Amino acid sequence: MIKLDRESIIGWLKETDKEHLKDLYQTANQLRLERVGDEVHLRGLIEFSNNCVRQCAYCGLNKGHKEVSRYRMTESEIIAVAREAKSFGYGTVVLQSGEDWYYTGKAIERIVRGIKEETGLAITLSLGERKQEELEAWYEAGADRYLVRFETSNAALYDKIHPDPQGSLENRLKILKDLRKIGYEVGSGVMIGIPGQTWDDLANDLLTFKELDLDMIGCGPYIEHPDTELGRYPEYASDEEQVPNTEQMAYKVLALVRLLCPDANIPSTTAIATLNKKSGRENGLSVGANILMPNMTPIVYRSLYEIYPAKACLDETAQECQTCMSARIAAIGRKIGTGPGNSPNKKARS
Ligand code: SAH
Repeated sequence: MIKLDRESIIGWLKETDKEHLKDLYQTANQLRLERVGDEVHLRGLIEFSNNCVRQCAYCGLNKGHKEVSRYRMTESEIIAVAREAKSFGYGTVVLQSGEDWYYTGKAIERIVRGIKEETGLAITLSLGERKQEELEAWYEAGADRYLVRFETSNAALYDKIHPDPQGSLENRLKILKDLRKIGYEVGSGVMIGIPGQTWDDLANDLLTFKELDLDMIGCGPYIEHPDTELGRYPEYASDEEQVPNTEQMAYKVLALVRLLCPDANIPSTTAIATLNKKSGRENGLSVGANILMPNMTPIVYRSLYEIYPAKACLDETAQECQTCMSARIAAIGRKIGTGPGNSPNKKARS
């Protein structure tokens, strides 16, 4: 029996005993099987623009980073990649970008409509903080899901790593509520091991996921980018309090997320795969995750979407990513999901 009150969560986050952790992982994996089954749903990820108006202290795409050469995919390029996703048998495309207002509400609406009409795929958007009217119009146009991580539930830490005056934790949380009202499947998440993040903070993050009753929860280790504010001037909490940004921490978090939010769709994220290119993705799937996000960003742009360095799958074509992910799923005895792979959590609510 795994207890999930605040103190117990902190205990698990600090746990290092291999046998104890095996219990945690096995319990989470069993619950994953019971609640979302053996299917692993593949979401074709299209990182369509690396332009960003924000100054996030951890992210390599922040607007002050002048060495990045910036790109934008055209509407027809994006739709062509969605067609490719369909040809691979994926049920969903995820459109992700920096916060780039070059793409007006209407432009995104056209892209969403175009993808829906041509492919019928489920569409997830991850475009940052956009206006309520836009979020509504995109839902009307056929977008199904929206991802916006709140990054940390500690408002002071949030402010510190988001120096941009427009941003606040409160606003991100409000957007999550608005998305829910509109009808989206709603996803969020945090980074694990942000300099300054304490055990208490991370436990609060996990409890916040449960409170928000999220449909999708994506968490990955914080990975230092040397050309960012946080990369250059990290301010750590004391040795006893600082959460490490390790692979093992990421697995513990994934398992606890599954236990706290049993019906959510949970990806084994690229950041985990970046720490362990050999088996990070499978390991994540074995401790509670049920989603993988193969990268479909065209190779010419792929390395420019450098939110952190040495990202996994940097120089693989979409086809190679597809083949690789399928092999990984088969190797651990799981099945590739068919259909849109909607969140059972949303179904349970409606
Ligand atoms: N502009 C969109 C998408 C951001 S990129 C938005 O604001 O929502 C997606 C996620 O990558 C971020 O939410 C953040 O959690 C993660 N990320 C960014 N930089 C990172 C880093 N250095 N290490 C680990 N994860 C990072």
